[in-house]
Amino acid sequence: MAELPSILIASSEVIGFAKTGGLADVCGYLPLALRRRGHPVAVIMPLYRSVRLGRVPIYPTEHVLTVTLGKTICPTRLWRGTIPNSDVPIFFIEHSDFFERDDPVRGTSIYQRSTVDGRKVDYADNCARFAFFNRAAMEAIPYMPTPVDVLHCNDWQTGLMPVHLRDTYRARAEYRRIRSLFTIHNIAYQGAYPHELFHLTGLDFRLYNPHQLEFYGQFNYLKGGIVFSDWVNTVSPTYANEIRTPTFGCGMEGLLGERRDRLSGIVNGVDYASWDASTDPHLAKNYTIDSVDAGKASCKADLQHHFDLPLEPRVPLIGMIARLVEQKGVDLVAKAADDMLKLPVQLVILGDGDPTYISKLYAIRDRYPKQVGLYIGFDETLAHKIEAGSDLYLMPSLFEPSGLNQLYSLRYGTPPIVRTTGGLADTIVDTTEESLLTGEPTGFRFQAYTPQALAGTVRWATHLYHDRPSVFQRIIRNGMLADWSWDRAAVEYEKIYRRLMIEREGYRFAAESA
Ligand code: ADP
Repeated sequence: MAELPSILIASSEVIGFAKTGGLADVCGYLPLALRRRGHPVAVIMPLYRSVRLGRVPIYPTEHVLTVTLGKTICPTRLWRGTIPNSDVPIFFIEHSDFFERDDPVRGTSIYQRSTVDGRKVDYADNCARFAFFNRAAMEAIPYMPTPVDVLHCNDWQTGLMPVHLRDTYRARAEYRRIRSLFTIHNIAYQGAYPHELFHLTGLDFRLYNPHQLEFYGQFNYLKGGIVFSDWVNTVSPTYANEIRTPTFGCGMEGLLGERRDRLSGIVNGVDYASWDASTDPHLAKNYTIDSVDAGKASCKADLQHHFDLPLEPRVPLIGMIARLVEQKGVDLVAKAADDMLKLPVQLVILGDGDPTYISKLYAIRDRYPKQVGLYIGFDETLAHKIEAGSDLYLMPSLFEPSGLNQLYSLRYGTPPIVRTTGGLADTIVDTTEESLLTGEPTGFRFQAYTPQALAGTVRWATHLYHDRPSVFQRIIRNGMLADWSWDRAAVEYEKIYRRLMIEREGYRFAAESA
């Protein structure tokens, strides 16, 4: 038995088809990396309006699935396409009432709509929509091109699939050999609904109990994924530990503690085709590790010009791009601003989000107009310019399941200053006198969530920038050489898939594959 396990990735978002967050990146790039390693892979997601109108052609298959939703039976067609630049098939569950309502012009997304006073609220029927998706995706499994070995579910929207696999479909031969992996991308979103809606899931009511699907008087999709899957992972090893504590676990810490021998973390990858300073079309000058000095000097001048800051080549420029929400440590930046800006530094911030943080940042910009640049909004081009044109990148997150911007920064030769949490702790090697002697530092870290700790770390980083330029160059090079590709992440996912197969096949398989 030398064949690689065949994987079906189930997700509510896949980049290129529908995206609201990092979940879409994982479910779009991981399948390609697994395919490159030789796995049979397929992906399944809802057929949203953005999929129907998108650039990738999709086709109806001949399969009409019989899907039960409560007492209703809804026949639904399975559609199919291919992930661009690959031969990975992607399948879509059609239900136009449920899934084809996302429309940016009307302010509707795949999960939410805008109210008349501009707030975003979840659709009232999200429970039914995803109960339907979970059930339909289960029904589609026999029609996958290769018999599925591992069903890889992602976040609450697919949390009932491992439950169905163990319970509803247990007796059916086509499902018996399938093992499941459940990946938590952000534990704060759980899909919790009143028990009156439980009948929509089609699951047996005996599962509605505190050891299985009940969670404080509601039933909870995420809990289903955690309890019923054969393995649980999340998007960094440190976040895997953190979510076992009350501070980060959002109520799931006890349960995750019970499953700790089946819980691990894998840092997300970077799509280095989109984030490559040597080809990036958004930059004033492209550069490689051998031309980083000259390249970054041009990009820095371009960035200073963009924000109307003095064109000072030797004043360290600190960049930050973030959703302006509590998670990203914006309040810490606001509190540390006076201390940081006493130093001869410039600071540019790109982001959008909470109006309270936005007004605090405007106030700082108005106090330090010659040192601070601020753009409120979403701007992909500017994000690339900031990654390349800054000397240091700031990411002082309160929590960070995996994080992408620190990885882009490493690749672009912009050492990150991060708080030691989640994926930031796992990806940034702190610069200390000791790590300079014995290790390969790539950035700067601080632990305490205090303005003093942040400002102190900025002071240390700018000291190295000014007074020990060869050390700073080394940090840049170490970061640029680090591998945070999807190919690396795929190797780690493959270890979990293989482990599940070894358990399925027993010792004989383990011995043969050794
Ligand atoms: P999160 O997914 O929690 O927002 P990550 O660091 O994992 O944080 O990824 C954020 C992604 O969104 C990055 O690609 C980042 O560059 C991008 N981004 C966030 N805010 C903006 C913005 N205002 N303009 C452009 N890109 C942004």
